[in-house]
Amino acid sequence: MKTRTVDFARYSSIRIGPVAKVRVVERGERVPEGHFLVGGANNLLIGPHPPPLAMLGKDFSCCRLEGEQLIIGAATPTGRILSFCKKHDLGGFEFVAKLPGTLGGMVAMNAGVKAHETFNRLLWVETDAGRIEKGALSYGYRYADLPGAVYAAAFEVKRGFDEALAGALNALRANQPKEPSAGSAFKNPPGDYAGRLIEAVGLKGYRLGGMAFSERHANFLVNLGGGTFEEAIRLLQTAESRVYEKFGIALQREVICLDAGLIHN
Ligand SMILES: Cc1cc2nc3c(=O)[nH]c(=O)nc-3n(C[C@H](O)[C@H](O)[C@H](O)COP(=O)(O)OP(=O)(O)OC[C@H]3O[C@@H](n4cnc5c(N)ncnc54)[C@H](O)[C@@H]3O)c2cc1C
Repeated sequence: MKTRTVDFARYSSIRIGPVAKVRVVERGERVPEGHFLVGGANNLLIGPHPPPLAMLGKDFSCCRLEGEQLIIGAATPTGRILSFCKKHDLGGFEFVAKLPGTLGGMVAMNAGVKAHETFNRLLWVETDAGRIEKGALSYGYRYADLPGAVYAAAFEVKRGFDEALAGALNALRANQPKEPSAGSAFKNPPGDYAGRLIEAVGLKGYRLGGMAFSERHANFLVNLGGGTFEEAIRLLQTAESRVYEKFGIALQREVICLDAGLIHN
């Protein structure tokens, strides 16, 4: 199996992480035991001592139509999925515009915008254990219980790319910070918004070293330049403890924090 050296301070969307050797899984190979599978690293905060890492190779970046099913390789970037849907006039993936990542990361996070979520149109996933139908998977808001790596997934598509929906969902991004981030730091608690709670405990715009909760949107932990893993973790912990003390709500991290071989989320 090939390896690749990845500088996660450049590769990850939050621009934090070490230079690490990553196993690259090609067609016919499987993710090695004990390895954490990285997609586009748009939802990851990687510390200086990550566990062994793997990525899917280019063979897994592909889209094809089979009847009414759209079959997408797990390494396919969201931009490519969107262009494929536009080109073939298919609806159902309008929400991935400005949602950075790969299909594998989208399935694992059940990524989405408002009611538009990855699992809505999912039919099955291809895994080490073979093909698993959606009905056999447990999933919810920003969560999917997968048995391990996903190599491809199939979706039910409808005819007609909805430009108006794509435009409306894009408009929701107007207040999104421009600085590097990993998207939302915390999941919204039922009936509330993590951003509102962070703001209510005085942390909107709060900065520690190179990291801050954004002035534009409090639930975005942004890297203002030279931010570190330790600063990011301390800010997440500060928000967790202040929100718990004031509201009795235990915030759940959406960003996956990886360090010292442990996954903290
Ligand atoms: C600016 C910005 C805006 C964002 N907006 C949104 C949004 O609106 N909605 C939203 O839901 N998210 C949003 N995100 C978060 C991110 O885009 C999604 O979580 C995306 O699905 C992550 O995909 P990825 O390939 O980068 O996954 P990674 O960050 O690399 O990994 C995320 C998880 O997926 C797992 N994973 C990756 N590939 C596979 C695979 N093949 N098989 C099994 N597991 C796998 C990883 O092990 C990890 O647990 C945003 C992020 C940024 C930076």
